[in-house]
Amino acid sequence: MLTISNYVKPKTLEEAYELNQARNSRIMGGMMWLRLGNARVKTIIDLSGLGLDQIEETAHVFRIGAMCTLRQLEECEGLKEMYGEGIAEAVRHIVGVQFRNQATVGGSIYGRYGFSDVLTALLALDTFVELYDGGTIRLSEFVNRKKDKDILVSIIIRKSKRKFHYESVRQTKTDFPVLACAVVTGIVNGQESWYFSIGARPMKAALLEKQWKVPKDADDEQLEQLARQAAEEFDYGSNMRGSAAYRRHLAEVLIRRAMRAVLSED
Ligand SMILES: Cc1cc2nc3c(=O)[nH]c(=O)nc-3n(C[C@H](O)[C@H](O)[C@H](O)COP(=O)(O)OP(=O)(O)OC[C@H]3O[C@@H](n4cnc5c(N)ncnc54)[C@H](O)[C@@H]3O)c2cc1C
Repeated sequence: MLTISNYVKPKTLEEAYELNQARNSRIMGGMMWLRLGNARVKTIIDLSGLGLDQIEETAHVFRIGAMCTLRQLEECEGLKEMYGEGIAEAVRHIVGVQFRNQATVGGSIYGRYGFSDVLTALLALDTFVELYDGGTIRLSEFVNRKKDKDILVSIIIRKSKRKFHYESVRQTKTDFPVLACAVVTGIVNGQESWYFSIGARPMKAALLEKQWKVPKDADDEQLEQLARQAAEEFDYGSNMRGSAAYRRHLAEVLIRRAMRAVLSED
């Protein structure tokens, strides 16, 4: 059971950060994960008064406030225009609309959960994490950092012309994914680049980058070979949802499907 002694809604990020330095303090996002845990929390810090609940689009970036909900991410027209249905597809299977109206982007990324669709999807893009104390760092660096008492302020996706496709496999609708896969391609520094993010391995998502020139009309055999090569570069583990061997096989299939999907986009 979760026991909370004090509830505080700070007026500034500085105040929130100071409060969070105490050992028994916790930041609350949507509380969807936190409330299931067993902990004695002295002070729970609610960030909802700090204006972090907006997705801001500029000429160069999307800045997603930590308190934005997964539903906002799913419905964001700007993200759809830029990356098609990929991001919406990544969150669509998470429990249900009411749940996604509460769970936050900040809580999802800060948690760095192995099963996370959100992390898998955002890792494949040109994504940064803005931390109150730690500055702005790449999401790929943040993923492997140890949890500390910093505050995640926003997620920044740098805009660039990239194609994005998301796939996941679940044993039943709304369950955690058995495997999650995001594939992104675009021209980076003049070179065709491919980004493969595989999550729910069941370890947290990892990113692979390849400078591959893949012809638009690549045949199934070519794609199978490339997908196998990419899938083999990740580690997989076993749990109640599937074995490592099954996950490796799924990764190969999902990567191939996602590559075919982005190649057939205009
Ligand atoms: C039943 C269930 C099923 C789920 N299924 C899936 C799924 O299939 N796919 C998927 O991707 N996800 C899934 N999730 C995870 C969910 O989408 C959210 O990622 C999760 O609930 C955390 O978000 P939250 O806003 O509820 O965070 P909270 O529960 O409020 O917080 C989670 C953690 O993050 C910390 N935190 C929150 N915000 C910040 C911040 N801004 N800065 C620093 N620390 C912060 C909290 O202190 C806490 O440690 C599931 C969760 C549940 C409960």
